This record gives sequence, C-alpha cells and structure tokens, in this order.
Amino acid sequence: MRQIAIYGKGGIGKSTVASNLSMAFRERGLEVMQVGCDPKRDSTRTLTGGRMIPTVLETLRDQLRLGRDQSAISLEDIVFAGEGGVRCVESGGPEPGVGCAGRGVLTALQILKDLKAFDTYGTDVVIYDILGDVVCGGFAQPIREGFAREIYLLCSGAFMSLYAANNIAKGVRRLSRRGETGLAGVIGNSGGQEEFERDLLSQFAQAIGTSLIDVIPFSPVIRACEVKGRTVLQHSPNSPEADAFRHLAEMLLANQSRVIPTPVEEVEDLERLYRSRLDLYAAAGESP
Ligand code: SF4
Repeated sequence: MRQIAIYGKGGIGKSTVASNLSMAFRERGLEVMQVGCDPKRDSTRTLTGGRMIPTVLETLRDQLRLGRDQSAISLEDIVFAGEGGVRCVESGGPEPGVGCAGRGVLTALQILKDLKAFDTYGTDVVIYDILGDVVCGGFAQPIREGFAREIYLLCSGAFMSLYAANNIAKGVRRLSRRGETGLAGVIGNSGGQEEFERDLLSQFAQAIGTSLIDVIPFSPVIRACEVKGRTVLQHSPNSPEADAFRHLAEMLLANQSRVIPTPVEEVEDLERLYRSRLDLYAAAGESP
C-alpha cells in the first residue's frame, strides 16, 4: 500500500491536487482513500459534490457525549463513498480554542488504524492531505507514527510557499527513516508563471536534496471546478488539465525515491535562492 502525504502551505491547492490525484488513481483501477488532515475539513469536498462529510473527531465527540467510547464507532460512520469510488475521510479538529489540532489528527488516524480501515477496503493508495503552515510536532505526527511514508511538498512560485515547504522539510529530516519514510519530491502548483516556477522549484528541490516531480499548470478550468465542488477529472475529463493530473499520478506511482532532506538552514539563503531566479528572469526581460 502506498501512503502518500501532500504537505504545503494553506491555500496552496493541496485539496484540489489530492482530490484529482485520487480520481486519477481510481481511473487506473486502484482502491483509494483520501484522508483530510486539517481542522478545516474540506479536503474531500470536491469528491462529495461540495458536501462536508462528518469528521472522525466530531463522531468521537458525539459518542463520548452519549457516555460511550471509541469502540462505538464503526467504519460506516467515518468513511464515505466519494465520486468515482474514492473513499473519503476527514479527521476534523478539536473544538475551537481547546486541544491540539495535530494530536486530534493523530487520534483520527489511530481510529482508522484500529478499525483496520485500509485492509477492510483493500486500499492500494492512501492520500493524506496535511496542513503545513504550522511547523510543530502536532502536524508531523502522521509521519512520526508511520502513517505518511512518501512526503510531497506542494509549492507555487510564491516565496512563502517555499518558506513553508522548507520548514516542513526540516520536520521530515528529523522523522525520516531511511528507505521507509522520507521526502519523495516537490510538486508545483502554478500560479500562472510556469516557466519561472518550474525553474525556481527545480532549484529549490535540488537544494533540499530531492527533485521536482511535476507542475500542475495554472488554469481557470481548475478554479471553476473548485467552485462547483467537482474534481477536474469528473467535470472536464477530456481537458488538458485532467491529463495534467493523470500525468502527475503516473509520476507519483513511478517514483520510488524517499530521501532524508537537506533543508536550507537560513532564511537568508532561501531568499538568495529565490532572488537569483527572479533576477534571471528580469535579465531575460520576463516578469514573473
Ligand atoms: S503542537 Fe501544533 S497543532 Fe498542536 S497545539 Fe501546538 S501548534 Fe497547534
């Protein structure tokens, strides 16, 4: 079973990439489960026709309120059939202002494990969609506890997305287990300056000891599908955008690399790397 984690800064497009990847894996006949690991609970929204599914943690809270415990939860309460047969789970988060969101995510993953969710559904690929803004022990738990094995950093051409990705790489470095769990690559989600972003993200990936796997092009079609609560593969299956996600899925399946990353230590060095690529494009008369 492949256990793929997509980490990245909030708003970078993790859910869109994860959902379309899930659909692309399904097209290949694989059994897929997508697990949203973000209190925002909207990872699987485009797989469920825009509907927000009940989360694992709120289901647990409901049972506790009734004086029961975790054993009262069944898989049918927390795993929902999405489009194309993708199985959808949302971890949810603690009540606002109470508890640790990362620990909540881990509780949810542990419940899935205890209920043997992956085996029960004959899962070939699990995609974890994990918030990467908060660089803390909490959101590193899926890696620490051996759920997320192949870690991908989703980035755009914005400096802060690299900053977040570099911080995640620092966490991955601490938790990598050679050959088992590690950084698998960088994925680009273009903001519209694809040539610049491809170059920037290749350089960044190289700097942290991995490679750029693929870049999803910027497209109004993708944005429109998000608004409609659909994946691109359902809504526009014959579009070049759908093919871009299929290509990414193919690249991920073929990629066996898992490295202990070598993150950029100082923010000034990261800024220098960024500026050097900007300058190159300015000199070439381009304006990223
Ligand atoms: S460990 Fe992370 S997720 Fe948990 S409370 Fe602290 S910042 Fe929030």
